[in-house]
This record gives sequence, structure tokens and C-alpha cells, in this order.
Amino acid sequence: MKLLGREQLETLTNFQSGDFFTTSFFLDTSKNRLSKKEIQLSFKNLINSGGARLGRLSLPKSQKESIFQDLDKIKAFGSRNLPAYNYVGLAIFSCSGLGYWQEFHLVKSPRNLIAFDRNPYVRPLSAILNEYHRTCLLTFDGKEAKWYEIYMGEIRLLENLKGDVPSKTKEGGWEGYSSKRIERHRASRVHDFLKQIAQTTFRLMQDDTYDWLFLGCQDEHCLELEPLLHPYAKKKLKSRIKIKPGDSTGKILQEALAVKDLLKKQEKDEIIKRFQAELERDGLAVSGLGYTLRKLNRGEVQTLLVARNFSQPGRSCPRCNFLFEDEAVCPSCQIETNPLVDLIDEAVQTALNSSCEVKHLNPPSQLDRYGHIGAFLRFKA
Ligand SMILES: [Zn+2]
Repeated sequence: MKLLGREQLETLTNFQSGDFFTTSFFLDTSKNRLSKKEIQLSFKNLINSGGARLGRLSLPKSQKESIFQDLDKIKAFGSRNLPAYNYVGLAIFSCSGLGYWQEFHLVKSPRNLIAFDRNPYVRPLSAILNEYHRTCLLTFDGKEAKWYEIYMGEIRLLENLKGDVPSKTKEGGWEGYSSKRIERHRASRVHDFLKQIAQTTFRLMQDDTYDWLFLGCQDEHCLELEPLLHPYAKKKLKSRIKIKPGDSTGKILQEALAVKDLLKKQEKDEIIKRFQAELERDGLAVSGLGYTLRKLNRGEVQTLLVARNFSQPGRSCPRCNFLFEDEAVCPSCQIETNPLVDLIDEAVQTALNSSCEVKHLNPPSQLDRYGHIGAFLRFKA
């Protein structure tokens, strides 16, 4: 199934493999960046490295057998589906011992990874979900309002409302009413309709389903609606876009995605600007792997910035879980550290576990000049 939201993540997180291990498998299948051959090769390499790691694990026979079957099933899935696979990423979670199998088609490429653990390794999925803003788009004119959900490149109609608003009058009276009076009557009906629209918008947004609100309407209507919106909805209002209720969903989606890209780019530029400013004044930021890890280990990081797909081996202390570039012995516990295949993934996981925000920046960005990683700090130690 396609990865769509936090509910799926929660279901995954709730899965307990008991005595068995769960195999978590992630593959970058982006055909923009990789040839079919390269994808097949990294698939094969991942399965092989999983097999080699399994060989070194000392586990009871039934547990080993379960992981072995996982690898077999993933391999079979790959040869069946990869040749015509149309998503840019694949995630599989399998625990054969309990007959558990879950596959996700991803709209954003993950890092290649295979892991055996007591629970599904869900961090890469959460990183992908963090990238997307579930958006409620409201488009209306004086007569009709439509609410759409836009998420992960798809659009769906949420609600449709028709207002009881008379048409604009032509010059001259009508059944004894002056045109001015009819116009006033019309304006008050429009106002009632806008109030109804504001209420519906709040009802749709109040349970925190949506991160952003977009408005598509003529300026006069937008100006009249905005003061009527609940402060909660107003806070989420991110942009106005040039669409009408009568526009096709294709057109609406296209316009909304263009605005989203722009907003995301602005967000990225702002983060980098703030980051550079903090570094220059020796304020609440650090850059480079060494400094960032030190701050992360001490729990001083507020937001971790990492270039997407930046990865590097490293080490971690089995007792205090501190992360190091190359310390063979943990300086505080005085015990030997363990090798890590991907130090950056562990850093992301540490950050998420200590409720830091993680921002994955798509290269190229100015972050690359600072060693592909950095952080905003909670306080200055
Ligand atoms: Zn330690």
C-alpha cells in the first residue's frame, strides 16, 4: 500500500514481534537518479549484506529461520515487482515467524537499509512523512464552496456547499425593490454564506488533521472571509491561490503543488539563513559532524539539520548510546564502542527519540558547505 499517514505508522509501531525479529527493508528506487540495473544491484547487495549479518547473529534456530524466510520473501517480491516498479522508494516489514508482512510504496526515496530488530524500524518513514504538509484547500465564490485535501501529490474533494445567494441585479428595480436594496440583501446573504464557510472550515480543521490552509477565491471574498475564520484556521492559512470552485481538480492540484514547492523552498531558505546567522554570531547553532554529535549526545539539540542521503559509518556506546565519529572507547563509560553502518541514521533516530525536530534538506544547499549536518541548539552551554 502507499504510505499516506501517521495512522499507518502507528499501526506499524504497535506491531510486537515478541520472541521473533522483524526485518525492515528500505530501497531507493528512484528511476530519475538510478538506472534499472543500479536498482537491481543495490537490491541484491542489500539482501546479501542482510544474509551475511544473519550468519553472524547468534540466535535460537527458530528466530534465525524466521529472518531467513523474510529475506527469501523480500527477494521473491523484488524479482516479481522491481522491473515494473513505479514508485521512488520501497519499504518492507516482515516477520515470518508470526506471518507478518507489510509493504509500503514511497513517494520519496529512502536510504538503502536492512535491519533486524524487535520492532519495525520506522524512522525513515517518519522522516518522509515529516516532509509533507497535509493541506486543506478551500475555494469559493459568492455561490459555491469546495474543500479539498491535498497530500502527497494527490487531491480529493472533502465537502461541497452551495449558498442561497441571489444573482447580481441588473440596473433598475425588481418588483418594487430598488436595486440598491436588492444589492444590500444580496450582500448580507453572501456574508451569511461566508460565515457558514468559515464554520465548515473550522470543523474540518479542528482535529489537527491539516497543517496548512490554502484559499482560492477572488480578493473581495477573501478579504471578507478572513476575519470570519476561527483563529485556529487563520493560523494555518499559508497562501492564497488563483483558482475557482469551477476549476478542474487537475488544475487545482497543479496550482496548489506549485505553491507548496515555493513555500517549501522559502522554508528551506529561511532555515539556512537563520542557521548561518546563528553560526556567524556564535549563537545557538553548530555545524559539522563532530560538533553536532557532541551536542546531540548531551541533549542540547533543538533541531537537527541534515542533508538528505548524507551517510557515513561511525560508532556508538552500548551503555550510554552516545554517538561518535571514530572513538574506539566511550570517554564517559570507558567501554568499547560498537561500529555503526550509518551514523547519520542513528543521529536522526536519537534526535527523534528526544523530541528534536529533524529537517532533511535536499542537496544542493548551503548546508553542504558546513559538512552536510548541523543543529540549532536549545540553549548555550
Ligand atoms: Zn558510554
